[in-house]
Amino acid sequence: MFTEIENIDTGVKYQIELPTKCPFCGVSLSPRIEGKLFRRPTKLCTDVFMYAYLILFCPNCDDIFYAKYTISGNGQSRRVAVYPVSKPKISLPTILRGKYPDFWEAYRQAVIAEANNLNPLCGMGYRRALEMLTKRHLIDHYDKTEAEIMKLDLAKCYNQLDDKEKALARGAAWLGNDYAHMENKHPDYDITDLKNFINSLALMVSAYLTAEEADKVPRAPR
Ligand SMILES: [Zn+2]
Repeated sequence: MFTEIENIDTGVKYQIELPTKCPFCGVSLSPRIEGKLFRRPTKLCTDVFMYAYLILFCPNCDDIFYAKYTISGNGQSRRVAVYPVSKPKISLPTILRGKYPDFWEAYRQAVIAEANNLNPLCGMGYRRALEMLTKRHLIDHYDKTEAEIMKLDLAKCYNQLDDKEKALARGAAWLGNDYAHMENKHPDYDITDLKNFINSLALMVSAYLTAEEADKVPRAPR
């Protein structure tokens, strides 16, 4: 939704796109502009003519959030940030958080990067999470030792997995590598595919962990 805002000091008006979702309650809405601030860049900057900051009010949850815009010399505006950053929703079984906190944290940070459209960062983050998950899985469920697995690169690790797990880890690794290198070797795939592969592998690993919990259920006395 585009709205006109005016810089009172100069009388110049700009069209800006308001955020469509509140970062607190997640509800789609039309936030109300409670305040605005315009500031010229202090450093020499080729394409940013002006910054605009808006204080926004969410009529659903009564909270206040902020949006930052850049305005170029021809008056074009671009929203570059909304604060606070939305809390990411992680749709993986929570048993993984307890068992593999390092994997969970890498994955969580990648989700935050993805929510902020930082695609190269989130691609590398998912790739890192994949490596942690694969190595933990090999150590815990394939009778490998930490000493032998931790020094191996990811390809040498996923090649030891069963066929279906290997396909998922390998696919995710290849797509993840595209975000770490200058050349994109798989232009027909995107971050959604990468995440799908990792999520499916994570579900398989979580089934192992859940089965271990199920194994601890004592037999009822006869
Ligand atoms: Zn809200």
